[in-house]
Amino acid sequence: MKKHFLNIYEIIVILTGIGITLFLLVSTKPVFPPFYQYAIYFIVALVSSYLYIDNPKTIISFEIVIFYFFFLMFSPLIASLTAVLGVLLLRTFKTLLELKTKGKSFFSHEMKMGLYNAGVYGLIYLVSGKMCIRLSHDIRMIVGILVIVCLNEIFFSIHTLLSGENFFEYLKNEGLSSDLIELAVYPFGIAMYLLYRYNGFLPTVPIIVGIILLSYIGKRMSDYQEQLSSRLMIIKKLNEISQSFSKVLDIQILIKTILEETHKMLKPKLSVLYITNNYDKSVHIYCYDGQKMEEIAPDKLKEYKGFYQIPLEGNDKEIGFIGIDVDRVFEKDELVIAENIAKQATICLDNAMLYKISIEDSLTGLYTRRHFESRLSEEISRADRTNQSFSLVMFDIDDFKRINDNYGHKAGDEVLMKFTQTMESFTRPFDISARWGGDEFILILPRTDEKQAREIGKRVVAKFAGMIRVNSKKIRVKSSFGVAMYKSNSGIPADEVFHIADHNLIEAKKSIRKRNNQ
Ligand code: GH3
Ligand code: MG
Repeated sequence: MKKHFLNIYEIIVILTGIGITLFLLVSTKPVFPPFYQYAIYFIVALVSSYLYIDNPKTIISFEIVIFYFFFLMFSPLIASLTAVLGVLLLRTFKTLLELKTKGKSFFSHEMKMGLYNAGVYGLIYLVSGKMCIRLSHDIRMIVGILVIVCLNEIFFSIHTLLSGENFFEYLKNEGLSSDLIELAVYPFGIAMYLLYRYNGFLPTVPIIVGIILLSYIGKRMSDYQEQLSSRLMIIKKLNEISQSFSKVLDIQILIKTILEETHKMLKPKLSVLYITNNYDKSVHIYCYDGQKMEEIAPDKLKEYKGFYQIPLEGNDKEIGFIGIDVDRVFEKDELVIAENIAKQATICLDNAMLYKISIEDSLTGLYTRRHFESRLSEEISRADRTNQSFSLVMFDIDDFKRINDNYGHKAGDEVLMKFTQTMESFTRPFDISARWGGDEFILILPRTDEKQAREIGKRVVAKFAGMIRVNSKKIRVKSSFGVAMYKSNSGIPADEVFHIADHNLIEAKKSIRKRNNQ
């Protein structure tokens, strides 16, 4: 509803401000300064309005000095006409520029605000002229400024209210601070007026040069401030990214996080992460297109054109690179962002890789006993929280010492790996498998009761049993298992649950031996 009123209000301001100014121009034919002088002032107004200063606390441009000079020297109508024409010309130029560079429609926000601004300027100079007409020249100079600034604020306050923006925020952050600067700028117009009135055109030249210089310096400062705030945003974002990396220890999740964040920040066609694991010597390449991550073969990298490689460099080693596939030239700022992401990624990847080898058994890749113990405690808490039971299955390879003695340690290792593969082929993604030590293995099976766990144990043992070929020798292998179940909230401590499984495994071994001896 407010939007509707806003549109009506904007149309009224545009039509009356521009319409009345043009109508008065045609009907009253006001006295202009000599053409070349008017042309110079007009161009100065355009340039200074082009170099308008925009920072969070002020929006100001110095062309108002020229308008005010016309207001005092010639007539409010000349001031209003110069303002309307200047604003319209400049906004049209800017809109056409946007049309070319950003492909926006002609009636973009820029053009709409341009028309509104032209309307407002037209009206404030006409109305203030009417209000000051009876005042003497000396008083008109001061009262004119106050009336113009007040009228300007009234028009923009109405606009803010109808736009549904926070009016007090606008006044505090933008409106009042702009008004104060405007109050300081208008006296330049008075100075120009006095110089022109008593000495003619030439003495006003230093002032118009001053206007251009001030506009230029102000513009540079507001650009600089904008750059500074966008840099601050980037630093904030990079901080968030580094926090999100350092929270992750799981290497797969970390890789995905790095690719997602790189993609979000730099918006390439494709982001790539090439990682050499200096601990297990493996090389993995992952790519992310904004939707899904996949592992790719090294050959695929050759297909990417416009490929930027940002090395993942640690203190003394390189562990790969972040690849960015873009179809544009990378800006310097973007490169700095990419390098910062890479630096943070290197530290966190190195930590994650180190963590991985600290929790994985080097021979089988299964979790170590220590990590298993912490996971078992976690699983007990989870089971208590969710009221779900879980089971443990413990395995031991039968007569493993004999295998080592008869076929050598290397063959023994092969048998251990074969068992790992067999056991892993029965696990679900959320099961936890570990090497307890030597030839003993253990599984945590969440949401599994004793009967189901025994079934898994039986299957693993059955699949593993038989002859396996190691270095052209055939080795007979066999294993045993024991099971324990943890019922949620039973209060049994983790080591007790483990001992039940271990005890059952020993019992199973005993009964096998008994059978073999019979
Ligand atoms: P049981 O049927 O009672 O299980 O008899 P076992 O011979 O399997 O019993 P034990 O647990 O005493 O044997 C385990 C052996 O595993 C002892 C140790 O030398 C060997 N071992 C431990 N770690 C490794 C390893 O990483 N590689 C190899 N090849 N052998 C290992
Ligand atoms: Mg054994």
